[in-house]
Amino acid sequence: FDDVPFPSFSTDPETASAPNGWQPIVAVVGRPNVGKSTLVNRIIGRRQAVVEDVPGVTRDRVPYDAHWNGRRFTVVDTGGWEPDAKDRAAAIAAQAEIAVQTADVVVFVVDAIVGATDMDEKAVRMLRRSAKPVILVGNKADNQNLELEVNSLWSLGLGEPFPISALHGRGSGDLLDAILAAMPPAPAIIEGVRRGPRRVALVGRPNVGKSSLLNRLAHEERAVVDSVAGTTVDPVDSLVEMDGEIFQFIDTAGLRKRVNQASGTEYYASLRTAGAVEGAEVGVVLLDAGEVISEQDQRVLTSVVEAGRALVIAFNKWDLVDEDRRFYLDKEIDRELKRIPWAVRVNISAKTGRAVDKLAPAIRKALASWEKRIQTGALNQWLTALTQATPHPVRGGRAPRVLFATQAGVAPPRFVLFTTGPFDAGYQRFVERKLREEFGFEGSPVEIAVRPRK
Ligand code: GDP
Ligand code: GDP
Repeated sequence: FDDVPFPSFSTDPETASAPNGWQPIVAVVGRPNVGKSTLVNRIIGRRQAVVEDVPGVTRDRVPYDAHWNGRRFTVVDTGGWEPDAKDRAAAIAAQAEIAVQTADVVVFVVDAIVGATDMDEKAVRMLRRSAKPVILVGNKADNQNLELEVNSLWSLGLGEPFPISALHGRGSGDLLDAILAAMPPAPAIIEGVRRGPRRVALVGRPNVGKSSLLNRLAHEERAVVDSVAGTTVDPVDSLVEMDGEIFQFIDTAGLRKRVNQASGTEYYASLRTAGAVEGAEVGVVLLDAGEVISEQDQRVLTSVVEAGRALVIAFNKWDLVDEDRRFYLDKEIDRELKRIPWAVRVNISAKTGRAVDKLAPAIRKALASWEKRIQTGALNQWLTALTQATPHPVRGGRAPRVLFATQAGVAPPRFVLFTTGPFDAGYQRFVERKLREEFGFEGSPVEIAVRPRK
């Protein structure tokens, strides 16, 4: 039988991106030598051994990015699962069980030439306990006779067995279709990434200069546009062109009409702020550079960070900042903004127009970080090196280790670390700080979740 070419699929990660960056995990398990890593190589579209690509990550749990039919997912290659194994083999078996626990779909590989063994039966019991969707694969079905043999695997009670030849590519398209069908559906709500102009919330406490800035932008730039082809814009929003790009400023009706200055409106103002931030991708928080950073300013900043939106801090009224004020402002920034050192900052004056042209590049930079994706291989390579150089402190006689990590989503970037035990808050902050040092993320909050093995 000739080699059946592996069905072609997109190798451009952009086109294959799930709309909201959510990425399911597929674990490949089975006895040693049934062809798991050969299959993983097929799925990720590579011929060379996966092991070589990620130095430092053990063969036991190698995660890889893959995509099929426009859907992205992470494939985890596992070492051989052997029940009743001892020593190193037992450790590998334990790793495979963790892989199953953390997966959304399990691909269970059996050797079609050998048929189902006692070990396979035991593996099936472990898989049943996990209650995960399992796809049964009879590998090494290199010809039609062997393909028929695969039918005997119905006896394992895992439903229809898929005959494939990982080595030659036979049947792998059908298998991938089945894997996709077994995945949980992508969340329907598409966060962040969508067509149309970028959505900006221009927020800040009263009198920082929000309406002055909006007016300045509307006059200085060509025009406030009323409609953009293919989009519907809420009448309370403003479309403003900056630096050749149209941005949608959310809920600016109050700013335009200047009706927001009535007394006792702080509560309503904060509700409006929250609503605008919710509807936006990026929050531009205006602070009055001439005045101390107040609690009310902090609340506005918090509303953007907690909503998980990209963040630009614009120090307005920079025309009022002299050398003296500058000195104290720098100190204030160190003290008051130390929880958000990653925010993109610009110093502007709505009154004179100073540096207002820096706003659009600042917004773009923050949004690029917000939607950034780190490849799973690079992420794990970096994390392995980091945790080897600076391991977690010992807790209860053991130092919790990272098994593997994956970026679970974008907008904002969300990372999941599968570990052998809970992490101290301090160590988690250390990992976040180092992650930012390595990969950037200027202007975006980053979420890191630690999932200890049960
Ligand atoms: P793992 O231990 O389960 O990861 O198995 P490997 O992927 O390392 O494969 C074990 C052996 O089986 C290797 O010699 C592979 O070349 C061979 N193998 C894998 N898939 C196939 C297949 O579809 N047909 C045949 N004939 N051999 C295969
Ligand atoms: P809003 O309540 O945040 O919309 O703030 P406004 O746009 O109404 O501005 C409040 C006051 O600050 C007004 O008197 C503005 O003229 C003044 N203002 C706004 N921007 C600047 C600026 O860049 N420099 C100076 N010196 N004053 C400004």
